[in-house]
Amino acid sequence: MFIKTALDEIQNYLTDSSNLKGFAERVFIPENTQELVELIKECYRDNIPYTISGGGTGLVGGRVPFGGVLISTEKLNKIIDFNDQHQTIFVEAGVVRKDLDDYLESRGFFLPPNPTETNSFVGGNVACNSSGARTFKYGTIRDYVLELEVVLPTGQILTLERDNFSLATNSHFSLSLQDGSKIEFEIPTLPWINTSKNTAGYYLHKGMHLLDLFIGSEGTLGTITKIKFKVLPKPERVLGFIIFFEDLERSLDFITETRILSKQFNELQFEDDKISPRLIEFIDRNSLALIFDSYPEIPSVAACAIWIEQEYSKSIEDELLILWLDHIKKFTNLSESTWVAINESEHRKFAQFRHLIPLRVFEIVSKSNYQKIGSDVAVNDWVFKNYYLQLLSKLGQSGLQYFIWGHFGNSHIHLNIIPRNHTEDSLAREIFDWHVQTAIQLGGTYSAEHGTGKLKRKYLELMYGKDIVDKMKNIKLAFDPKNLIGRGTMFF
Ligand SMILES: Cc1cc2nc3c(=O)[nH]c(=O)nc-3n(C[C@H](O)[C@H](O)[C@H](O)COP(=O)(O)OP(=O)(O)OC[C@H]3O[C@@H](n4cnc5c(N)ncnc54)[C@H](O)[C@@H]3O)c2cc1C
Repeated sequence: MFIKTALDEIQNYLTDSSNLKGFAERVFIPENTQELVELIKECYRDNIPYTISGGGTGLVGGRVPFGGVLISTEKLNKIIDFNDQHQTIFVEAGVVRKDLDDYLESRGFFLPPNPTETNSFVGGNVACNSSGARTFKYGTIRDYVLELEVVLPTGQILTLERDNFSLATNSHFSLSLQDGSKIEFEIPTLPWINTSKNTAGYYLHKGMHLLDLFIGSEGTLGTITKIKFKVLPKPERVLGFIIFFEDLERSLDFITETRILSKQFNELQFEDDKISPRLIEFIDRNSLALIFDSYPEIPSVAACAIWIEQEYSKSIEDELLILWLDHIKKFTNLSESTWVAINESEHRKFAQFRHLIPLRVFEIVSKSNYQKIGSDVAVNDWVFKNYYLQLLSKLGQSGLQYFIWGHFGNSHIHLNIIPRNHTEDSLAREIFDWHVQTAIQLGGTYSAEHGTGKLKRKYLELMYGKDIVDKMKNIKLAFDPKNLIGRGTMFF
């Protein structure tokens, strides 16, 4: 086990991509599960709070410790088993997402939900129920987790397999542990959240599997040490477009129409000879301006861009291209400027193009004295356009520096405001509150994929009400009676 105490050695662990700063006495880096279990037992015995760290790419301060010690999973990074027949991969939680993707790719497979940040760890992906662009077609990481090994705050190890009986009967959950003790809690009935993605608070449903409670629990219930994922064979071909629009409203109509066309065909299965994309990503004018120096070919009149990908088989390539180009022409006068990607290197360029935007924003944030105010809001598809236009009108009047991109296929917005002074900071917070509160009133969520962490705690109660948040806290205490793990994440 490595132990770091010097401030210059540990300070990188005391923050994450949100730029929130925390503090911890020391950082422990166990080299195997046994060391981790011993450490957690010591923390339990000596009442030492601890925070679990993955790659530190989280955007809500979840891995940022507020006291106690930090436990990094970076050395738990082995790929244990890959089974191409069963289409499964069994890994330790500290495997870097990029390494997993490269490993699978070289064997002709992939794990569909892909957070844009490939420096994240797979344990972090599961702890946050991460998703990303391909969620439009494939859902979230939850849908691909078959098995978890979790170390509880008492040091006991749980192995949870999806095909093993581990369901809550009605709304009561009871779990007998090896030492004879029991974990019991009530499952509250949550309000219906009318979105395709939601990671606010715990996942709670009658009859749910215990595995699902840990997915998205943001390191507040236990430490995920091993994961078995279901993986899929890589599609034969992928067609990509970056489409520029001079008219924002028409771009939103394009998204609505594309969704409708996709859903006509995709109730159960996407059909690759129809308009049926796996991702629909939006980039606003301000974000395009941020990367214009690297991509001068972006049309100067573009109000926004939309990135599309669709899987298909080679035999229908020409037909599919024509179908898409006809569809695109109906919504933009800049259709001639559409970029097309067919081969791997072209796709990589599109992904780099998209990834450069948050990186540039991060550069501005790291030089700023103010915290970035970043949203992760999703609403229902049918209210999305009006809601988004109202948000833009507020932002337009404010004069704030902001950048918007998002998984608009899922009606999911990332608004990023970077205040330049105190007045802007207050105004940004006001607009942000409106953005979140309105989404919640519309049956949406303040967190579609990043989670609650330490930065969005006040919205948890706004979304679910005090009674349900208290019940969520009780569930945490059922697993973590001394409130040691991830203290300050999700709950005040
Ligand atoms: C540029 C950029 C783009 C991003 N794009 C996306 C995106 O498209 N989709 C998306 O969903 N997210 C995105 N994110 C957010 C982030 O990358 C994901 O949430 C990611 O899954 C976090 O993983 P991590 O390993 O970095 O976790 P960390 O930041 O280290 O931790 C996040 C939380 O998980 C907990 N945790 C970590 N590992 C474990 C474990 N083994 N056991 C228990 N708890 C654990 C931590 O305690 C913390 O609460 C993006 C971030 C950046 C910076």
